[in-house]
Amino acid sequence: MAKAHILGFPRIGAQRELKFAQEAFWRGEIDEISLQDIGRDLRARHWATQKAAGLDYVSVGDFAWYDQVLSTLALLGALPRRFGFDDKALGLADYYLAARGDATHFAMEMTKWFDTNYHYLVPEWTSETSFAGGVNWLLDEVYEAQALGYPVKVSLIGPLSLLHLGKIKHGLQHKLELLHKILPAYQQILAALRKSGVTWVQIDEPILALDLDQQWKNAFLPSYRALSMDAPQLLLATYFETVQEHIELLHTLPVAGVHLDLVRAPQQLAHFLTNWPAGRVLSAGVIDGRNIWRADLPALLPPLQTAQRQLGDALWVASSCSLLHVPVDLNGEQQLDTETRSWLAFATQKLDEIVALTTALNGNADAVAAQFDAARAAQLGRRNSARIHNPLVQKRMAELALTEPHRRSPFAERSHCQQKRFALPVFPTTTIGSFPQTSAIRQARAACKRGTMTHLDYLQTMRDEIRVVVEAQLALDIDVLVHGEPERNDMVEYFGEQLWGYGFTQHGWVQSYGSRCVKPPFIYGDVYRPEAMTLSWSCFAQSLTDRPVKGMLTGPVTMLQWSFVRDDQPRATTALQIALALHDEVQDLEQAGIGMIQIDEPALREGLPLKARDWPAYLEWAVRAFKLCAAGVSDETQIHTHMCYAEFNDILPWIAAMDADVITIETSRSDMELLDGFGEFSYPNQIGPGVYDIHSPRVPPVSEMQNLLQKARKVVPDAQLWVNPDCGLKTRNWPETMAALANMVSAAKLLRASVQDEMHVDCC
Ligand code: GLN
Ligand code: ZN
Repeated sequence: MAKAHILGFPRIGAQRELKFAQEAFWRGEIDEISLQDIGRDLRARHWATQKAAGLDYVSVGDFAWYDQVLSTLALLGALPRRFGFDDKALGLADYYLAARGDATHFAMEMTKWFDTNYHYLVPEWTSETSFAGGVNWLLDEVYEAQALGYPVKVSLIGPLSLLHLGKIKHGLQHKLELLHKILPAYQQILAALRKSGVTWVQIDEPILALDLDQQWKNAFLPSYRALSMDAPQLLLATYFETVQEHIELLHTLPVAGVHLDLVRAPQQLAHFLTNWPAGRVLSAGVIDGRNIWRADLPALLPPLQTAQRQLGDALWVASSCSLLHVPVDLNGEQQLDTETRSWLAFATQKLDEIVALTTALNGNADAVAAQFDAARAAQLGRRNSARIHNPLVQKRMAELALTEPHRRSPFAERSHCQQKRFALPVFPTTTIGSFPQTSAIRQARAACKRGTMTHLDYLQTMRDEIRVVVEAQLALDIDVLVHGEPERNDMVEYFGEQLWGYGFTQHGWVQSYGSRCVKPPFIYGDVYRPEAMTLSWSCFAQSLTDRPVKGMLTGPVTMLQWSFVRDDQPRATTALQIALALHDEVQDLEQAGIGMIQIDEPALREGLPLKARDWPAYLEWAVRAFKLCAAGVSDETQIHTHMCYAEFNDILPWIAAMDADVITIETSRSDMELLDGFGEFSYPNQIGPGVYDIHSPRVPPVSEMQNLLQKARKVVPDAQLWVNPDCGLKTRNWPETMAALANMVSAAKLLRASVQDEMHVDCC
């Protein structure tokens, strides 16, 4: 019999219960016991859902109090030494300290999990890193599931992926130097799991989807020989890309099964089936763990049947990856119309899809015939729906194919005009856009949505807030202002709500990092802007001051990357449609006298395909889409962009090709390391490397920001250097924000004073 399983279930809860519990714990409103209770309830509920759907195993090990990588470190006893924790007696407060930092500790660095919008905490590897064993949380969770009577499959991040995802801090030449230390720790965990009666461990090695060098590839066989000695049966899970180049390796590894992502790379199945070792489980990830479209069950069945004829009982049907990346339950949605609803499947519905396929494979097609029919009808309905096709957009897209978008003059000329217009001091200060989103702001937005606040009252409330933000920036003496984005719940949703072709959910939350969740819209049809989206807010803000206030837009790649994207046309096509809408918005802003316009592209780097061979194609359309937004504006209009959380060095030529006049980036957490590439490459335009980390409540002293600026000056010429935080301030509170920005402005002014003479000579 074929088996049904998933690689993981969302941990946050359909109502974001985990988020609210974590945050209450951080505020000291609930204690550790209460938080533990909420976590336990969530796990039990999620297992019950999986069992009720008919999965053969419930997934244990996919729960984490903040992040699965951090939890794996806690399990191994490998949290950074600098925190001074007692690894075996780690409490949740310690765990959160590592994630969030405090007045005396930097938080661990955070970065994107492969090409998703999930962020993990980056392990810190040093020659002193040890893996002497940590907390027993995983075993406790196994016992919980067993006590509830569920068949358990444990999921665990594999040792090679864990090592690979970490960062060497000091004392090591290569991360694999830690392999001989980490393997015994995994062996102990696996032995303990086996002793506790666990029969299957899904061990995730997603790095197999990357371009791996030989040293890493060579490490797999000896590692898995060592791991399989005293362990439950191991299902080696790969996802997010094809692993076809590792076919030999995956055929020979001493594991009981291998999982393949057949949504991203369906063609690899046939190749893997050739010479597939008899009796070894092949887990076919056919249900999309990264998108919310309902599966075409009738189309998915035949290839599975082919596989089944060869594999027999060794075929498992699965989600392509963990369902962490999709919302929990479509049934929570009350406001979707029936047509749109029929096109979608969230995590809970995906369980049913997996079980339906498995049931059909196991000879009970009749039992799921209705499900198959409904899936077929939904596919057809979506393809033919009038809501998907917009002739106006199609026409502009056809015209676009004939032109190359660009600014009027090269940067050198533009920057001259802009300096004349804005007369900014050297090291101009600015912020990234959002200011603290107070509960008053959130309440007003919610009330307006509910209809309990009139539209006009809402406008007044937001304008009052914008005035507060502008006045605060003037009081701080910041040079280039922002309006603070109070009207935006989320930088993508806000725009999506004003564009045709975008759909929304009420509760479609997905974890982004820690307690932070996002509610990505979904793009189902041609994207079109029926009217201006930001104009009145920007104009109001600009009317309050003579200093420039940046117009603030979310760029096309980010709009795409942080949405669930239609799967019936190339991503590039959708990106250009969004860019057309943004182009029109930029034009409107410019005509209204907004002199600086920031087009945020924080997701540009994360959109990069995992395999380098696919980069040029992606970057080409991504850059084209950005340039289309800014195309045609006058030389005096300054275009900014902002990117965060990412390493850029390998794509600098493309970032330069975007030709933004100013780019602000996150650099403080990496101690300006991220900036080195900009210096080596001689990035031609202006740069604002973030001088303080906005993810932490910590207020850095002036001297610290000065140090960072001095580091930045080593690689960025003074005339190109801006001063700003790492990212938007929406998650911070006002006192922290004012204190940190005051220090930032002081740091910039001190620097100005110290280089004044030099600069004076330069200018004349
Ligand atoms: N302008 C946005 C803000 O300040 C940018 C956010 C981001 O980069 N993620 O919130
Ligand atoms: Zn950012």
